[in-house]
Amino acid sequence: MIEVGLEVLSLSQSSASLHKPNMMRNIVAGNWKSNKSINESREWMNEMGDEASNLPSNVRVMIAPPAPYLSSLAECKPSNVILASQNVSATGTGAYTGEYTAEMLLSCGVDFAFIGHSERREYYSDTNEVVVEKISRCLEAGLGIVLCCGEPLEIRDAGTHQEMIAGQLESAFGGIEDVDPAKFVIAYEPIWAIGTGRTASADQAGEMHTFIRSWLSNKFGSERAEQLSILYGGSCKPANASELFANADVDGGLIGGASLITSDFCQIIQAAGE
Ligand code: PEP
Repeated sequence: MIEVGLEVLSLSQSSASLHKPNMMRNIVAGNWKSNKSINESREWMNEMGDEASNLPSNVRVMIAPPAPYLSSLAECKPSNVILASQNVSATGTGAYTGEYTAEMLLSCGVDFAFIGHSERREYYSDTNEVVVEKISRCLEAGLGIVLCCGEPLEIRDAGTHQEMIAGQLESAFGGIEDVDPAKFVIAYEPIWAIGTGRTASADQAGEMHTFIRSWLSNKFGSERAEQLSILYGGSCKPANASELFANADVDGGLIGGASLITSDFCQIIQAAGE
């Protein structure tokens, strides 16, 4: 459990011009997707270990390698790196070929699972209903969650992106009365920005993050909403991280391509700690 040294800031005060209200919200999470060999993965962990003392202490660092490596990387990762799974089963123990449960992940030294990444939603039929099942499994088991939400380009162009994100949040959080901010993270990832090199502008990201925090405030109360981390994902890299993270409601990033190279990833972590 992290200590949440909370300094409450009302939502009406949230703006790019204010300092971050709660530095423990800062997280930079990497998503390697289906990249790297096991040796390259171990080398990445060694490099992160070498950099550990140079990284800001007010940023939680998380990485999601391919699932087959998780157990082995749990043994050699530096202590400041939190291990996450890119996916988790919507079902439990039993005859579910190819699946791995939240309990299995925990037993392998994994602390978080990503749920609802747009690539899972698009290629593997992770509908809102499947997302709800996966969240339930993780909550039951005590595995941390990084819940991803985001809109495709046509929805952004139609101007209905807030409605879509509200729908994803309503579905995901519908049956949940409260969340532990140390174990529940939200990532806003506009699909048109993922892996495209086209980043949301700082204003676009900030507007959506403030909208999401306001939604969370309505659902869980303003104190809880101020404790929850909301990450931005979508072509975030060293060159644009500081600008994106400058908004008071952007608590860090979910990083795909730029998490593969430790020097790029560390620059993004530095930006999140500013
Ligand atoms: C992602 O996969 O969640 C992502 C944000 O990827 P990228 O940073 O490469 O756009």
